[in-house]
This record gives sequence, C-alpha cells and structure tokens, in this order.
Amino acid sequence: MLLNVKGIINTPGDGIAFNEELDLSDVDFGGVCPAVRPVSVVGTVQNIAGMLQLHAELNTELSCVCDRCGAPFEKPFHFVVERMLAEELEDEDNDDILLLVDGAFDLDELARETFILNMDTKMLCREDCKGLCSGCGANLNFEECRCKKEIDPRWAALQKLL
Ligand SMILES: [Zn+2]
Ligand SMILES: [Zn+2]
Repeated sequence: MLLNVKGIINTPGDGIAFNEELDLSDVDFGGVCPAVRPVSVVGTVQNIAGMLQLHAELNTELSCVCDRCGAPFEKPFHFVVERMLAEELEDEDNDDILLLVDGAFDLDELARETFILNMDTKMLCREDCKGLCSGCGANLNFEECRCKKEIDPRWAALQKLL
C-alpha cells in the first residue's frame, strides 16, 4: 500500500494512522516460508514540529521448522520500526531517513524489508534444543541415543578374564 502523507507535511501536530494486513507468505528463508499468516502492520505518521515521524508495529505468528531437530513450531514475530520521512535528503549519509516520492512512500515495501532484515538467522524450537543424533537419528530432546556404545577393546579383554 502506498501511504500518502501530503496532507500532513505542512501541518505540525497532524497525523495519519494506518492498519493493514500484508501477505508475506512468499518470503523464503532457506526453503522455509514462515509467514503463513498475514502480517499486521499498524502505526502512525506524525508531523512533530515539522518533521514526519513514522512508527509502525509488525506482528504475526510464524510457522517455523527447527534447524536442529526438524520439528515444526510456532513463534511470534514482533518488530517496531521508527523512521523519519522527508521529501529530500539534507545529508546523503543519513539512511535512517525514508525518502518520499511525490508525498508518498511504499508501506508494504518497508514492512517486507523490515521483516526480512529482522528474521532470526537460526530457528530453534527452544534455546537448548539438543537436535538429532547424527548416528541413529534419535531426537535427543525426547529420547536416548540408540547408537551402540563403543566398548574399549582393552576393557572387553579384561571382562573376558573376569
Ligand atoms: Zn529443535
Ligand atoms: Zn545415536
């Protein structure tokens, strides 16, 4: 959605509210698309003493697959974006400022970018997930490893003697 803020550019104290649902189910992280539900994007743009301040909150419930044990799990995603909006850049290096084009900016694109940049690089069903045994494939969160314990040959020889 293109959000037009022309109406408040010259009126300090004025603001615009937005509330939309964005489909990000096509955003792929290593073969998994976790945003199976719509992402809600709620916020405001306010003219504070002549400066346009954007505040947006992204919320959704992700469907993830654990990187260690492969179990599916749900996880909330919440992120707050605070940006200044301006019609032109006074300082070229200031990339905190979102540039308006004809008094508007693409809210969907900003939300999509924010979502991608703030996704966890590691998806774990829990902090201390023990994962799968590389030998027997047992899910070590719930079961014992079934790999045969290697018996030290010297100990085996000793056992024979006893
Ligand atoms: Zn796990
Ligand atoms: Zn094992």
